[in-house]
Amino acid sequence: MQLLDGKALSAKIETNVANEVKILKGKTGSVPGLAVILVGQDPASAAYVNMKKKACDRVGFYSVTHEMPQDISQEAIENTIKMMNNNPNIDGILIQLPLPPQIDTTKILELVDPGKDVDGFHPYNVGRLTTGLDGFVPCTPLGVMELLNEYNIDVKGKNCVVIGASNIVGKPMAALLLNANATVEICHIFTDDLKKHTLNADILLVGVGVINLIKEDMVKDGVIIIDIGINRANNGRLVGDVDFENVAKKCSYITPVPGGVGPMTIAMLLSNTLKATKSHTGEK
Ligand code: NAD
Repeated sequence: MQLLDGKALSAKIETNVANEVKILKGKTGSVPGLAVILVGQDPASAAYVNMKKKACDRVGFYSVTHEMPQDISQEAIENTIKMMNNNPNIDGILIQLPLPPQIDTTKILELVDPGKDVDGFHPYNVGRLTTGLDGFVPCTPLGVMELLNEYNIDVKGKNCVVIGASNIVGKPMAALLLNANATVEICHIFTDDLKKHTLNADILLVGVGVINLIKEDMVKDGVIIIDIGINRANNGRLVGDVDFENVAKKCSYITPVPGGVGPMTIAMLLSNTLKATKSHTGEK
């Protein structure tokens, strides 16, 4: 069994991004700018935003966080997005989800300039992804593909089973795998007999949010497992969706949690923002 080390790869990507920022600054005098909108006091959302801000600082990006109260109006968020869309110092806009119930999230995401949509959630970029065109791809599944690529794991012709079908994880994950010529199955909460599907997987990608969803008897020997889940266990430790202790011995490769997909997500946010900057400045 070999661990897929997202921590090491993300550090390598960060170094490359930081070097490119220096070059870009030398040529154009400006650095990539990321604006984050954070609504409410959810500690997990605040922690994610803080991690993203620190990553921006490490690579030399300009970043700004718009913190808004839980009872903020739709109009106020929309006005902030319009401002960011028109701000030449901002290359990427990220709306930390989830937004409070009074807010129409779809409308908010649709308002982001697709050229600044570094999370890849705008329907324009979703459409480009599903048609196999270049655009912004959601950071978590993009990070998974980078990780597979780093370990020379070719998904072409492999049975890839994705569990979880959200717009930010499962669906774009499946689209990327299909674009890379994998045979893809998507399972979700209403899937009957999950084990029947997981046993079929050469590569199993799990992004659900349920501790120990995947157990030893649900996978075949030699399987490759990508554990995207992030859960807080009773003992306070971060764990994924896979019963790592018992399942890992059956795997050829598996991602640890933490240290697998999580750091790759942040690295892809940096790389998407740099990509946006290059397109705005005309640099290739
Ligand atoms: P979500 O709640 O939007 O979607 C969960 C999906 O899992 C749904 O499609 C649902 O149908 C499915 N599901 C729920 N229970 C199931 C079950 N028992 N069997 C099969 N399918 C089931 O969640 P999300 O935003 O997609 O996040 C999923 C997980 O990934 C969470 O643990 C989240 O913390 C994690 N996540 C990690 C990263 C990262 O960087 N590693 C990024 C985003 C999300």
